[in-house]
Amino acid sequence: MKYISLNHNSAPTSFKKAVINGLAPDKGLYFPEKDVKLPKSFIESLKTLDNNEICYEVISNYIDDEIPKNKLLEIVNDTISFKIPLKKIEQSVYSLELFHGPTLAFKDIGAKFMASCLNYFKDSYTSKKITVLVATSGDTGGAVAKGFSNTKDIDVCIIYPKGKISEVQKKQITTNGSYVNAIEVEGDFDLCQSMVKKAFNDQEINRKIALTSANSINVARWLPQMFYYFLAYKKIKNNKKNVFSVPSGNFGNICAGILSKSMGLPIDHFIAATNINDTIPRYIKDGIFEPNNTCPTISNAMDVSNPSNFIRIQKIYNNDLQKIRKNISGFSYDDKTTKEAIKKLFTSENYLTDPHSAIGYLGLKQYMINNDDNLNGIFISTAHSIKFKDVVEDTISSKIKYPASIKKILNKESNTQSIESYSELKEILLNRN
Ligand SMILES: *Cc1c(COP(=O)(O)O)cnc(C)c1O
Repeated sequence: MKYISLNHNSAPTSFKKAVINGLAPDKGLYFPEKDVKLPKSFIESLKTLDNNEICYEVISNYIDDEIPKNKLLEIVNDTISFKIPLKKIEQSVYSLELFHGPTLAFKDIGAKFMASCLNYFKDSYTSKKITVLVATSGDTGGAVAKGFSNTKDIDVCIIYPKGKISEVQKKQITTNGSYVNAIEVEGDFDLCQSMVKKAFNDQEINRKIALTSANSINVARWLPQMFYYFLAYKKIKNNKKNVFSVPSGNFGNICAGILSKSMGLPIDHFIAATNINDTIPRYIKDGIFEPNNTCPTISNAMDVSNPSNFIRIQKIYNNDLQKIRKNISGFSYDDKTTKEAIKKLFTSENYLTDPHSAIGYLGLKQYMINNDDNLNGIFISTAHSIKFKDVVEDTISSKIKYPASIKKILNKESNTQSIESYSELKEILLNRN
């Protein structure tokens, strides 16, 4: 498989190059050059196949022989090595729990897969030290740090907005030992992201360091997110229509679901559920793409007003707004409504959700009001509630227990540096290597 740039000013390139570059030279996002259709026989046998086999079959279409079968199977196996339950919450409503991985967030899947691919490719492309540079609104940082924990000759540099991530997230980013360089920025996530972009364009940095990105734009983070749509489908024991509601920020997760559908996975409809940073729900409604300033919310991993991955969704639908509307509904919720949903799920269903997952639930319910409810409604639970402990405990008026993996890091000392400007970031990067 070759990868084209969605800015259309760079030559198609290999999977390996796309993973290493992150963004194409013309600053476009990479996108697979060809549509992939899975054989009908494969789709029909999904319910009986082994998980590793399914995920290998899906992803190998995008990698070909750039990673040999045995190695790719090993990487797939590693990536989905934790449980991914599909829990029934109400009549026709299911939660796909993606928060049982090493940092209790769905980003563990993409981060682990990417780290393994990069580790596999690294010796063949540079003798320079590799630094993974990533901006995070909370969950990416921890997931990337853990993803690279067994690839210690790759350095990881994580930039996050000061005071805008939770205590657990901060611990997950800042307690990993010396291979992780944690940097907090006085500003919001968009500022962090713009600093990272600047570093990638900085020739002085690029001469010295092999910089690589681990944000959700990287194809090795984006594509493996298809795994759990297939694995969820495998678990469903009826032939009703399947609708997925995806709490969305940068739109990588939902875009992987949409790609799965384009390969032939039986999914009827998607719901893009957002917080008040609602650029896409507004776009779906009015046809006008107009990002506002980013507003802070309690679902801060979705505080994104200009979602990078949306261009890939437009590409899948040939930029046809009618097709987008037919396949995706967009709904947005403020913090008050989100908290009410957390509380309702806890009191009436005894089910604990974090603010992001609660938005997924809300979107699903809103869709189901206006549509035939003879369907499987699946909302994606993207993070464990403990990662947003303060707001969840406050909302449900009771305490959440710490999972064992979190208890272990709470008492570790945080190791981080504070910066205000790009020049400080540059200095850190140059002096570190
Ligand atoms: C990153 C994140 C999201 C948003 O996912 P995108 O792929 O950026 O749309 C939602 N929920 C949680 C908990 C996240 O960490």
